[in-house]
Amino acid sequence: LKKVGVLTSGGDAPGMNAAIRSVVRSCIFYGIEPVAIHEGYKGLIDNDLEIMNARSVANIINQGGTFLKSARCQEFRTPEGRAAAYENAKAAGLDGLVVIGGDGSFTGAMLLEKEHGLPCIGVPGTIDNDIFGTDFTIGYDTALNTVVEAIDKIRDTATSHNRLFLIEVMGRDAGFIALNAGIAAGAEEILIPEDQKPIDQLMDSLENSGRAGKTSSIVVVSEGDKSGGVFELSRAVEENFPAYEVKVTVLGHIQRGGKPSCYDRVLASRLGVASVEALRDGISGVMVGVRDQKIVQTPLEEAISKHNAIDSNLLKVADIVTV
Ligand code: ADP
Repeated sequence: LKKVGVLTSGGDAPGMNAAIRSVVRSCIFYGIEPVAIHEGYKGLIDNDLEIMNARSVANIINQGGTFLKSARCQEFRTPEGRAAAYENAKAAGLDGLVVIGGDGSFTGAMLLEKEHGLPCIGVPGTIDNDIFGTDFTIGYDTALNTVVEAIDKIRDTATSHNRLFLIEVMGRDAGFIALNAGIAAGAEEILIPEDQKPIDQLMDSLENSGRAGKTSSIVVVSEGDKSGGVFELSRAVEENFPAYEVKVTVLGHIQRGGKPSCYDRVLASRLGVASVEALRDGISGVMVGVRDQKIVQTPLEEAISKHNAIDSNLLKVADIVTV
């Protein structure tokens, strides 16, 4: 193994820089030349490559986003686009590629390897934590902390004014952020797609809270929730409870930014080393992840097609503590 490329693709996540840094420094440690690719697969097609050294990744472990930039690249979805990308990788002498991203990026990596034989390793980077084959994705812990901090602030206003806040959080089709941040921020209700409750249940619960003397409430709604979205929910709650002043907050992209947490930096550093070590061991077509604190490898095909289930015990905890 002489030359390994690294790129970030899809949605950015805090900790991606720490992962790039770790891949670059692992390469140097093992006598491999690290090559950074700018703007994900687009940079591979446009031949936007840069040879790295240990200093090129100095002072980035504490920064959110990805200094290599990420991009969504339509061309890479076509066999012609992937062939063009491969030609550049071959010309640059790359004999391995580390792709930091989500399941879309892994699909691309898998096809590139299948069609052209370039060994690829996936590193899970997304705040949504929705990738099979790892307990945690890079960026998730930071996003959770951002969400909890934001909800804490909103609660100050909710309690000062007897208001009900519907707070939409990210997570795509998964409720990991909503469930965990909802428990941590003391939400009264948590709505997630994996445990879709009928809207009547929310109304009953709000009614019970009102009867119990509660005058303000925080309801955390996952963006994947299928009740029609926070604005639709807000209309429904106001119709049922004219006395309630309902406010909607969509936390949006603040959840994707910010300095990565300690956990994300360490996770990214571990997975970066694991990705280069896998390539050195002649392993490819897998994603590296952590399960029960141990580094594990999962075939990209499986990482893409399967989904992590929400822990049923955590649902029970939420039921008990959110009243
Ligand atoms: P994520 O990796 O976060 O899931 P996307 O789904 O946007 O983000 O994927 C990132 C990039 O990966 C896309 O812009 C595209 O270049 C590539 N990609 C995604 N899906 C495929 C696919 N089915 N075939 C080939 N490339 C893909």
